[in-house]
Amino acid sequence: MREDLIQLKERTLEALSNLQNMDELNDLRVKILGKKGELTQVLRGMAKLTAEERPVIGKLANEIKDELESKFSEKMRLIKKAVQEQKMQQEFIDVTIPTKISVGSKHPLTLVLDEIKEIFIGLGYEVAEGPEVELDYYNFEALNTPADHPARDVQDTFYITEKILLRTQTSPVQVRTMEKQSPPLKIIAPGRVYRSDSVDATHSPMFHQVEGLTVGEGFTMGDLKGTLVKFVHEMFGRNRKARFRPHFFPFTEPSAEMDISCIACEGKGCRVCSYTGWLEILGCGMVHPNVFRNVGLDPEKVNGFAFGMGVERIAMLKYGINDMRLFFENDLRFLRQF
Ligand SMILES: [Zn+2]
Repeated sequence: MREDLIQLKERTLEALSNLQNMDELNDLRVKILGKKGELTQVLRGMAKLTAEERPVIGKLANEIKDELESKFSEKMRLIKKAVQEQKMQQEFIDVTIPTKISVGSKHPLTLVLDEIKEIFIGLGYEVAEGPEVELDYYNFEALNTPADHPARDVQDTFYITEKILLRTQTSPVQVRTMEKQSPPLKIIAPGRVYRSDSVDATHSPMFHQVEGLTVGEGFTMGDLKGTLVKFVHEMFGRNRKARFRPHFFPFTEPSAEMDISCIACEGKGCRVCSYTGWLEILGCGMVHPNVFRNVGLDPEKVNGFAFGMGVERIAMLKYGINDMRLFFENDLRFLRQF
């Protein structure tokens, strides 16, 4: 019987050293150490032993059982470790291998808008926002442009209902801001605007404007001019000349358009500036007293100036782009240049 036990141990250890995975290991454990396993079978024969032999064989059997249990545990650890190592090998990623990842960049309109914001924030302005779907009241009436006003071109406006439209300008944000906040005020309002224009090199039914509004006491056209010339110098360089021409807007009085010296020819005259040497970049003026009255402010006590510029226009001049459609076609060959 001693021989049987020792043989069983030797066979088990050999089988154990040859097996490769957990399934095989579990099968072998059941086969040898299980309730109906081979070791149990051998031990059943102890009944036939003499009283002297029984404790000796019993001790040996227990030692063999303990030894096998510990060998099984050890083998199990080795198999688990091997499986883990194999998994690590398969999932290994070499982070030092150079990879080509193309990172996106900001759209040229975003770049220009960021720059415009930065310049005016530097001058103490805050950024305000308003809805793109706007009431006729804010887009026209409150801006001193009643229904029968000649400045209101119905053909230009996308009406949703009789009273609701897609804003044609960012100017309604002026009114909305003055309704909520008391002067002094310095805001810029960037955003999308909509006009019923056909698409061509200089027109789009959707484009971007930045509105500016300053309200306080004792402002003059000189303050307006100083602010906008500062903007031009920051945006287009210190050598850029600016001039103001009288113009008409319903919500400012007096009103002006601002030109800068042509970027393409430096003022000598070329095709870009229609041989005038100047390029129009924005509209501006002193806020009309009626606009103040419409928001409950007394034009005898407060005044201020407003301006509005097209972001596409500024971007085209800054980057020398001659077709507005390029901004909206998302051609990567164009976008990658910025
Ligand atoms: Zn020119």
